[in-house]
Amino acid sequence: MVFEAPGSALKLTELQIPESRDGQVRVKVSACAVCRTDLHVNRRAGEPNLPIIPGHEIVGLVDKIGRGVDSLLFSIGARVGIPWPGRTCGSCSYCVDGAENLCDEPGFTGYSLDDRWWLCRDGFTPGMRKPRKFGIYGFGAAAHIAAQVLRHEGHEVYGFTRPGDVEAQAFARKVGATWSGDSTASPPQLLDAAIIFASVGSLVPLALAAIRKGGVVVCGGIYSLHTRRTGARGERCRSNLTRLDANEFLRVASSMEIKMETVEFRLEEALRALREGKLNGAAVLGPGI
Ligand SMILES: [Zn+2]
Ligand SMILES: [Zn+2]
Repeated sequence: MVFEAPGSALKLTELQIPESRDGQVRVKVSACAVCRTDLHVNRRAGEPNLPIIPGHEIVGLVDKIGRGVDSLLFSIGARVGIPWPGRTCGSCSYCVDGAENLCDEPGFTGYSLDDRWWLCRDGFTPGMRKPRKFGIYGFGAAAHIAAQVLRHEGHEVYGFTRPGDVEAQAFARKVGATWSGDSTASPPQLLDAAIIFASVGSLVPLALAAIRKGGVVVCGGIYSLHTRRTGARGERCRSNLTRLDANEFLRVASSMEIKMETVEFRLEEALRALREGKLNGAAVLGPGI
């Protein structure tokens, strides 16, 4: 499916199978999840290099290896994941400081990049021993995985959803939340940290009010850029993951059982379901669906 112009429907198009260039591997896609970022990509004018093939939550098998690829990292048939951050410059001050998620010259999969450059084999872990209380704002695909990892590590999860979305609140409790409620509600106790997955800037002050002194609010969505100006203490804009995050997450994920809640969709139906908020878990597209 090709995205040609802002606001236009995606177009089913026959394309040549690409070759892997130097430093790249070619991946045969097994499945691709869809998230709200795709809705933003579909609406925004000007930014992406159109036409593009949208999609940035990809799982597939390596089927060709270009020159210069580290053979210790990739082999034919290896299962790999391809996330939204598709390229970082490696030389700006953020990259040099190990915060490549904030890179000044990033490339994004299925948005500004039409190639899928950045691959991670087989990260999200707070790495904290002491049990903590984590708030999660926006209980969709990412949240339902994060909640299970946090529970696995002995932390408590508090799930915040759109006001009145009792279905999503029940879903949050099903995947391990101790408490769930409206995003405008106060949790029963102050939280140690909160992560905002929903791309809604007005959640930032709500999350800041829900954490204890010295707590941290992490903005996880791409629209966190809009909230950077608040300059609130304790707020961190992650925007993206780093390669280190991905590797760390996969290490934890392989030590536990994560129950994925997925719904298979045809592409247009998936975007509609996301737009209307009628989805628990991850919307997944696969060949032949
Ligand atoms: Zn996404
Ligand atoms: Zn950089």
